[in-house]
Amino acid sequence: MNSPRSILHVDMDAFYASVEQRDNPELRGKPVIVGGTSGRGVVAAASYEVRKFGVRSAMPIRRALTLCPHAICVRPRMRRYAEVSAQVFAIFNDYTPLVEGLSLDEAYLDVTASLGLKGDPLHIARDIKQRIAIETALTASVGVAGNKLVAKIASDLDKPDGLTVVTAETLQTVLDPLPVRRLPGLGRKKGEQVHAAGLTTLGARTRRRHRRSARHR
Ligand SMILES: [Mg+2]
Repeated sequence: MNSPRSILHVDMDAFYASVEQRDNPELRGKPVIVGGTSGRGVVAAASYEVRKFGVRSAMPIRRALTLCPHAICVRPRMRRYAEVSAQVFAIFNDYTPLVEGLSLDEAYLDVTASLGLKGDPLHIARDIKQRIAIETALTASVGVAGNKLVAKIASDLDKPDGLTVVTAETLQTVLDPLPVRRLPGLGRKKGEQVHAAGLTTLGARTRRRHRRSARHR
C-alpha cells in the first residue's frame, strides 16, 4: 500500500474580483463583475456580493446584468493578477517544492515531506492562510486530504476563508452526502445525466454496493 500523503488544495476566494476590491476601496462591499465592460463577453470573476444574485463565472455578461443590473463591471487586469499570484505562489514554495499550479489562483501542495519540519497539515494550512492574509490582504480557502481529488472538493466546502480537513476517518461522512456536482471535472451536462440516473450524491453508489453485499451475506 502507498504510504499516506498530505495534500493541500489552496484556492484564492473570488480571486480577480477580490484583487479589484482590495485595490479599489470604492468597490468593497459592492457587486463586482470582472469581465468585458461593454456588456459583451463572459464573467471572468464575480465578487461574493454579486454571487448572491446568481451571477457565476463563465456566464455571459449580458445575463449577469439581467440578474444584477446594478453590478459594477471592471475590465480584467491580468498583469496585476499575475503579480499577486506570484506573491501567493512564493508563499507556497516556502512550504514545499511540490507545488502544482492549476491556474493563477489555485494549486495543489504536497506537504508530505514537510510535515516534520513545518508541523502537521492543519498547522501548515493555517500558516499559509495567515501569510496570504498578511502579505496580500486576500483570503484563500484550503482543503487538506490524503489525495488531490478530495483536497480539491474539501477546499470548496467552506468558502470563503475556509479550512476543511478530511481524514481517512471522516472521508465518507464528509463526501457521501455531497451532491454529485461537487465532483471536480464532472461538468454540467454529465452531472445532469448522472443525477437523472438516480445518483444524486457522491455516496449513492457506495450505499447501493453495501446493500448488494448485505444481500449476498
Ligand atoms: Mg479561486
